[in-house]
Amino acid sequence: MNCPRCRTWLAADTLDAGGVAVEAKSCEKCTGHWIALGDLKTVESVVDLRFLRWRNLPGMETQGRILLCPECPEAMPMEKIVSLRDQRVVMDVCHHCQHVWLDRGELEAIQQRGLLGGLQEIIKALRDASR
Ligand SMILES: [Zn+2]
Ligand SMILES: [Zn+2]
Repeated sequence: MNCPRCRTWLAADTLDAGGVAVEAKSCEKCTGHWIALGDLKTVESVVDLRFLRWRNLPGMETQGRILLCPECPEAMPMEKIVSLRDQRVVMDVCHHCQHVWLDRGELEAIQQRGLLGGLQEIIKALRDASR
């Protein structure tokens, strides 16, 4: 599976969420993360020092590009979800496989500011709307 941002091979990674191991994949080149929506909740409240060096979020020009889901066979375009609490954080969500792509700095931002609450609300709204 390749990085939706820069096509680099995504390596299996384990995030340490306060002693709880969370399976994820990460890109060495752009330091983005591919993580299941359900797992994101586990890491939300934990600040991992490894992420503190990712100070700068990618610019809007980069974040505005539509990414294709690296997991789904049909290369589904992922949906842009702008965090309600910090508009610099734009997450790419695949509703089909329920995974989210976090660019460098976004995981840190989520952990530090508890942005996920807003994300979950949006996901729920989208699910309800598609029913
Ligand atoms: Zn990458
Ligand atoms: Zn997908």
